[in-house]
Amino acid sequence: MAFLWGDERRFNSFSRHCRAHYGGRIQKLPVDAGFSCPNRMSRAYGGCTYCANEAFTPAYVSASDDVTVQLEKGKRFFQNRYPINNGYFAYFQSFTNTNASVDILREKFGEALQVADIKGLVVATRPDCLSEAVLDYLSELNTRTHLTVELGVESLHDETLAHIHRGHDTTCTQNAFQKLRNREIPVCAHLILGLPNETPSTWLSDIQAINQLEPQFVKFHQLQIFKNTAIETEYAAFPERFHTFTAGEYVCFMADYLERLSPKIVVERFSAEAPPRYLAVSRWQLHRHDVMVREIEDELELRGTFQGCLF
Ligand code: SF4
Repeated sequence: MAFLWGDERRFNSFSRHCRAHYGGRIQKLPVDAGFSCPNRMSRAYGGCTYCANEAFTPAYVSASDDVTVQLEKGKRFFQNRYPINNGYFAYFQSFTNTNASVDILREKFGEALQVADIKGLVVATRPDCLSEAVLDYLSELNTRTHLTVELGVESLHDETLAHIHRGHDTTCTQNAFQKLRNREIPVCAHLILGLPNETPSTWLSDIQAINQLEPQFVKFHQLQIFKNTAIETEYAAFPERFHTFTAGEYVCFMADYLERLSPKIVVERFSAEAPPRYLAVSRWQLHRHDVMVREIEDELELRGTFQGCLF
């Protein structure tokens, strides 16, 4: 039986999306273009309390290399793991990738698009870092390449956003979605599950709001507590503020979540993986992502349910 999105998987997968739109697998290649983050500089107190960019940045990625060199290194790295690719997206991942003048963005993104087999761009940024000039430039890019803006939503609750020193509120997030939607720029909503004082009930009751934001893609990360972060100190002092999943609980929770998520939204990731050497609290590390995906699909099959069946 094929589901609404056109294949037999029980959720609307990114691999299905890539097959449908690009004819096969697309690998994202992380890039650090040397942008900074306004939240680390001024807006709050040293940035989000969980921030540890180095934990998510592959070792071969360095802002001291130019964009082309980073992308070529990325291709070599992934060619060994996934020899069959239909192309690549340059993934401007580190820090806030619209935190620069349009001239600089034009230079960095333009360079990426000149590299062989780069079929599009993914630009990760904050909801409060989308000026009209930047939006105009992104609109222009959107007409000539496959562009996705990955927006750090993280939480839909102002108390949480203030608590983690996020430096913006939910109104700002909603406005960013509206501006990007008005310009028909595809958006990936990045969400963190496990922030202080939130629980599985919080996240399940947030799904309606996520559906209303209408992102084309969504990415879930369980909170990971990294060494030398403010949240490490908070967790040590107030562990009761944090909901920790076991892998099995997370699988059941994700099945509950998917049942309520709009079937139109493509799910890019269910969980995060970071090198264990960065983790301050190892029990936040779940399974490898491919294992997690298989287990979530098995759970949906066992239940006889699928993404959006309760939407
Ligand atoms: S927005 Fe991202 S880079 Fe900036 S402080 Fe927060 S987690 Fe760190």
